Amino acid sequence: MSPLEALVYRSRLIGSEERLGLFGGGNTSLKCRGRDPAGRAQELLWVKGSGADLKTCEARHFAPLPMAALRPLAARRAMTDETMVAFLERCLLDPKAPRPSIETLLHAFLPEAAVDHTHADAILSLANTRGGERLIRRVLGPQLLWIPYLQPGFSLSRRVAQAYQRRPDAHGAVLEHHGLITWGPDGRISYERTLSLVTRAERFIARQHRRRSWSPAAHATLPAEAREAVLRRWVPPLRRALSRARKVCLTLTDTPDVLEFVNARRMPSLARVGPATPDHMLRTKRLPLAVSVGERTAVAVSAAAVIRQLARYAADHERYVRRYRRSGRTRPDPFPRVILIPGVGMLTSGKDATETAMVAQLYRHAMAVMRNACAIGRYTSVSAREAFGVEYWPLELYKLTLAPPEAELSRQIGLVTGAAGGIGRAIAQQLVDRGACVVVTDLHRDRVEALADTLNRRAGRRRALGLVMDVTDERSVERAFDALLRAFGGLDFLVSNAGVAHVAGVDRLRLADWEHSLSVNATGHFLVARAAVRLLRAQGMGGSLVFIASKNVLAPGKEFGAYSAAKAAQVQLARVLAIENGEFGIRANLVNPDGVFDGSGLWQAIGASRAKTYRIRPGALEAYYQRRNLLKTRILPEDVAEAVCFFVSHRSAKTTGCILTVDGGLREAFPR
Ligand code: ZN
Repeated sequence: MSPLEALVYRSRLIGSEERLGLFGGGNTSLKCRGRDPAGRAQELLWVKGSGADLKTCEARHFAPLPMAALRPLAARRAMTDETMVAFLERCLLDPKAPRPSIETLLHAFLPEAAVDHTHADAILSLANTRGGERLIRRVLGPQLLWIPYLQPGFSLSRRVAQAYQRRPDAHGAVLEHHGLITWGPDGRISYERTLSLVTRAERFIARQHRRRSWSPAAHATLPAEAREAVLRRWVPPLRRALSRARKVCLTLTDTPDVLEFVNARRMPSLARVGPATPDHMLRTKRLPLAVSVGERTAVAVSAAAVIRQLARYAADHERYVRRYRRSGRTRPDPFPRVILIPGVGMLTSGKDATETAMVAQLYRHAMAVMRNACAIGRYTSVSAREAFGVEYWPLELYKLTLAPPEAELSRQIGLVTGAAGGIGRAIAQQLVDRGACVVVTDLHRDRVEALADTLNRRAGRRRALGLVMDVTDERSVERAFDALLRAFGGLDFLVSNAGVAHVAGVDRLRLADWEHSLSVNATGHFLVARAAVRLLRAQGMGGSLVFIASKNVLAPGKEFGAYSAAKAAQVQLARVLAIENGEFGIRANLVNPDGVFDGSGLWQAIGASRAKTYRIRPGALEAYYQRRNLLKTRILPEDVAEAVCFFVSHRSAKTTGCILTVDGGLREAFPR
C-alpha cells in the first residue's frame, strides 16, 4: 500500500467501529514524503477533509498540505478560525481536494507521523465524569496527556503541541469533554494505541457497572397498545409545532437501551447537562426535550401539555442564543432534535428517515456515555457558553452546507396504496426521486419490501418504507398508519391507487365479484382516505389526497359494471372530501388514466376478455388503445406519476375537486 492507501485503510478500520465515532466525527492524518506540483520532494500532511466520514472515506476525501507551510504557524500566539481556514485552503497542493478538517493544525503541530482523533464512547465516559483528569491517570496510566476543554481550533492545537513538548514520551491525549488523540511513528502504532486505551477504559467501565446500578427506574415501559395511543395523540401536533420553520420527519426509537434510559430516575437531570462531545451537537443540538410526565404515565398527559413543554424548551433556547451570540445575525433554531418520552421511547427529527436515524444513533451513544459516567461518578459536559461556541460555530455549520440542495418534495411524507403494480411503482419512484418520504403499501410483503429497498438504494437515503396493507380491512389500515407515524411522524399526502378490475356483463355478474369490486374500488378508498384525513386534520398543516380513478367513470364500457360503478363511488367520495376539507387546507383531486399497460396487473387479468370484446387479438390490444385516443399516443405509468406529482406538489396549491385526464385525449371522457 502507498502511504495514502494505508491511511485510508486505517481510517476505515476506525470508522467501522461505532463506539469510536460516528458520521464525520473524528479525523486521521499521516505525515510522509511526497511531491508538490512542481515535482519537488517535501514533507506532506495528508489529513481528512471536513465532513467526510471515516467509515466510508476514500483517498479523495483527504487533503494534502505542505508541512513546511504549516509548521511555522505553531510560533504564532493566535489565529482566528477564518484566517486559519483561508490559510489552509491556500496551502492545498491539490485544488480539487476537500476543505481540510478544522482540527488540521492539531495534526500538523504534533511531530509524530501518524495521528488519530476519535470520540470514543469509553474515553468520553471518563472525560465527562467529574474529576476526569485523575480518573484518566488512574485507569489509562501516566502515558496520556490531559487537556482541559478548549473549543477546537488554533488555540487547542497549540495547547496540545505544548503539552506534547513537555512530555514527548506520551502516547496520546484526552481532550476534556471532547475525545481522544493518539499518535505514533506509524499508523499501526497509533491505531493500536487507540484500541488499547479504549479497551482499558471499557473494561474499567464494565467493572463499575457490575458494582452499582447507574440509575433506578422511575417509569415502566408502557404496553405496545398504550405507546401507539400516545403517539397517535402527541405526534401530529408535535410535528406541526416542530415544522414552524421547515417541515420535519419524526422517527420513534424504542430499543431496550433507549427505553432503559428514558425510564430512568436520573434521565431528566442528565438530559439537562449537555452533550457527550461537542461534535454531536451539530445534529442533536445541545439538549434534548425530556418530556415530563410527573407521577403519571405518558397516557395521562395531554398533547397540549407536551406542546407547552416544547414551547418552554424553545423559549429557553432563544434565551441561550441571545445570551451568547456575538452578532445579531445568529438566528436561533429553537426546536429540539431529540425528544425523550418516559415509558415510550425517543423521537428524533430531521428532513428524512436517514437524518432522524443519524440523530437517534448519535444520541444513543450519548446515552451510553451518560450511563457509564453515572456508574463511575457524576456526568459532566461543556458549559452552556462553550456549547454555544460549537453549536453556532460557522466552521461546523459548514459541514451541513455540503449537503445537496433540497428537492421539490423534500420533507413531504406520503402513503401510496397498490404500490407493487405498474402505476403504483412508477408513482412511488417519482415521488422519492423528487425528495418525498413514502410509505409504499400493497398486499404482498415481499414485493413492497423489495420496492422500498430499491427506492432507498436509488435515493441513497432512507425515504421509503414497505408495508403490507389491505385497503378493505379497517384494522390493517390502522396498523399501517401507526407504522407510518413511528417511521416518519406524519403525513402530507395520500395517493389512493389500489384497485381491481372485473369483467362481466351485468346479467352474468356474480354477487361476490360485484361486492369484491365495491370493497376494493370504493370502500378501500374510503378507509384509507378516512385515516389520512383524520391524521391530516390532527396535524393541521393541510395536505393533498390524490385518487387514481379511471376514464371509465366518465365513459364506461360494457362488461365493466362492477368496476365502473365502484369507480364512480370513488370519484364522488373524492369530491365530497374536497368539499369537507377545503377549510383545513386539504385538497382532493383525481387522475383518470386510460389503457396503461406497462407492468399492470389489471391488464393481465382482463386483457384477454377486453380483446374479445373489441374482436381483436390480445397482442393488438395496446395498439388498439393507442389508436383510439386523439393524440395517438401510448400512456405510460410515468405519465400518471407526473400528474400525481403535480397534485401532491405546491404547483397545484389552488386546485381541489379536479379531474386530470391522462388518456391521450378521449372525446367521450372529457371531464364536464
Ligand atoms: Zn473532535
